[in-house]
Amino acid sequence: MIKKLLPLVFIICLMPSLLGPGALLASNGLTVLNSTAEIDFPARLVFSIAAESDAAITDLRLHYMVDRMEHARIMSEVYVRVTPATSVTTQWVWDMRKTGGLPPGSSVSYWWTVTDANNRVVKTALTRVQIEDRRYNWQSITEGEVTLYWYRGDDYFARELMSATQGALARLAENSGAELENPISIYIYASAGDLRGSMIFPQEWTGGVAFTRYGIIAIGISPGVSDMEWGKRVIAHELTHLVIHQVTFNPYNDLPTWLDEGLAMTAEGELESVFATALYKAKSENQLISVRSLASPFSVYTEESMLAYAQSYKIVEYLIDTYGREKMFQLLSTFKQGSGYDEALERVYGFDMDGLNTKWQAAFQGAAVP
Ligand SMILES: [Zn+2]
Repeated sequence: MIKKLLPLVFIICLMPSLLGPGALLASNGLTVLNSTAEIDFPARLVFSIAAESDAAITDLRLHYMVDRMEHARIMSEVYVRVTPATSVTTQWVWDMRKTGGLPPGSSVSYWWTVTDANNRVVKTALTRVQIEDRRYNWQSITEGEVTLYWYRGDDYFARELMSATQGALARLAENSGAELENPISIYIYASAGDLRGSMIFPQEWTGGVAFTRYGIIAIGISPGVSDMEWGKRVIAHELTHLVIHQVTFNPYNDLPTWLDEGLAMTAEGELESVFATALYKAKSENQLISVRSLASPFSVYTEESMLAYAQSYKIVEYLIDTYGREKMFQLLSTFKQGSGYDEALERVYGFDMDGLNTKWQAAFQGAAVP
């Protein structure tokens, strides 16, 4: 179903969980008159409060938490400097340019604690503020657990991207048994420039970003044929990172990079020729990277990282083709328990990363160059 989102939705939604709108909090003479949070996306989140009392207000604290997948909730507390007075109106600005930004569609929960000179304390209700990028007029389409937001291009454009998304999810389930456990949101910016404008520390190459802990993807795709194929691949790739993150979430260990990136690459479809070229060049020059090296984050040098992605694709493809999807799912489940890299492989396949390296390279060397 496609629906136009009312601009109202993107005016900050304040949803007090305990109090109705307009309710005030009071403790005898101490009263919170007003409390709001407003996003100036992507740079700032401004928390404002007004309170009064018959004794001087001496202490103001803001408590907030970012809503995301976390092993333990992290609550931040800010002491807001206040000149003692019976009436106080002030604000605290979260400057994201100092901390890094939050993705569109994320949310922050917060409350205030106000204390006066008579030691009376008032705590405001826990309130959630949605972080939305109101610079654009978003529309949305939802299918299953996926909601796709876009602001340029017609319904057909959105449906095409949604069908690519559903296709990638099906392919991932087919390859690895991994499926989405929680809803996700995909934000389609109309260009790489618009996407970069939504980020605090964008990198020059940023075409798509997976905010795995938030279940959010942001991508720059302009409507039109030229960007479409690329866009579908990026969605499939980043989407896989989200799903894999959900199904392997644990406090102990990340996945080896070759597995995470290899699954993302295979979800895209066939290996693109530019990657294949890097792969067969390295094969002929005996320059293949070991599976163990590929477990660490990839090189930032383009040529080497191309090869790393291409090899990851091949290694994952080898594991799935040779040992099947059940084993791949078992491997992911083993990682969810926080297993080490060698230990997980050993348990599921009976060989460690060096063993895998020997086996896949032998298979690859023996295979004909397509
Ligand atoms: Zn990736």
